[in-house]
Amino acid sequence: MTKYNDDKAWRQKFTENEYWMTSEDEPDDPTTEEQVKVEIGVQKTYQKFLRDKKELKVQRGKHIAYLLDGIRHLDSYFDSLDASRPWLVYWIVHSLDLLGELDKHPDIIHDAVVFLSKCQNSTGGFGGGPGQLSHLAPTYAAVNALAICGTQEAYEMIDRKGLHSFLMSMRDPIHGGFVMHHGGENDVRGCYCALNAASLAGVLTPELTAGIPEFIARCQTYEGGMGGFPGNEAHGGYTFCALAAFLLSSPASHQLLNVPALTDWAVARQTPYEGGFNGRTNKLVDACYSFWMGGVFPLLHAMEYGWRFDAFWNQEKPAYNKSTKEEKGSDDMDSLYLFHQKNLQLYILICSQDDVRGGFRDKPGKGRDFYHTCYTLSGLSVSQHNPDGTTSVVGPNENLMEPTHPIHNVRPIKATRMKNFFSEIK
Ligand SMILES: [Zn+2]
Repeated sequence: MTKYNDDKAWRQKFTENEYWMTSEDEPDDPTTEEQVKVEIGVQKTYQKFLRDKKELKVQRGKHIAYLLDGIRHLDSYFDSLDASRPWLVYWIVHSLDLLGELDKHPDIIHDAVVFLSKCQNSTGGFGGGPGQLSHLAPTYAAVNALAICGTQEAYEMIDRKGLHSFLMSMRDPIHGGFVMHHGGENDVRGCYCALNAASLAGVLTPELTAGIPEFIARCQTYEGGMGGFPGNEAHGGYTFCALAAFLLSSPASHQLLNVPALTDWAVARQTPYEGGFNGRTNKLVDACYSFWMGGVFPLLHAMEYGWRFDAFWNQEKPAYNKSTKEEKGSDDMDSLYLFHQKNLQLYILICSQDDVRGGFRDKPGKGRDFYHTCYTLSGLSVSQHNPDGTTSVVGPNENLMEPTHPIHNVRPIKATRMKNFFSEIK
């Protein structure tokens, strides 16, 4: 039963007491109980925000302090995440870059490059830490982080020949696609991690992409979204990876996919009450899907309208400076993608942002972390930058993030610079 389905006055929606969306008629159903709990938590968070008369503001200074502190202590803590350190570097440098801060810190950029160079193996590929086995996930994170660092030192550090042969050795000749590491699992993340790194490093060859669109098409499920492997359940993270890899390998063969079904499924992932996205049918909202699902919409837009990202971002004057539509809580903001861009921004700013200590969290009641900070800021950027070159910003104009490349999830200028560097030395 829907108790509320009108988004015309979100302030009013959250001011009225005990007014959430999912019914508690089925108390024995744990999925419904969890959903009701989340909606109550979200409602309280919105209500507190309104009661305290807070501003709809990105707390840049606090986020930057949190991120700088994280990268400076990279060597000394996060023992439990020991196998993910290139990821930590990527999450932090990309977050700082989206906030327009990273390039003010050449010392941090240099230290990040030196650290990543220790994770590169002599056989090509990057491990989760110095001396660890090469794996596609840290390879993706390391190459993206090096693109974001954007210095000659960062580019020249990459063993491109070794990288290409490592990526080729990850191809799965039996099932199609890529395995994540020697003897490891095959899922569609592998396709994205491998082809994304190859594209940025200028080693994206036909041998790497052969058969990939067909493999990805077999991952589309009856729901419309994409699973990690043929026959698996549709999932937000895998859907982003699948579409981005599809566009990297075969930008023109969309007829292999059922794009209308995919669009329906993606649209249904935005939660009507909370405003953020979930990653699967009947699952809870989570701010990291602001990118994993929000980021699907530019890719769908590219498939529907032939939007060519690289040509778009390479215009002489950045298109995103053309105009900014400022939004202060009224309901006249355009959604140019097929999701509600304003409601996503409200969820991010009010429910996900830790406006006291900096950083972003999954949902109210959870703690902040660098992973959610990175993908929430990335999703915020996607929801602000429209495909027609305008921007739609909830709150003051200072809330505007730098744009992010819809496939690589690094700033477009950083992707272009790295690709140009390698195309010139070929
Ligand atoms: Zn999450």
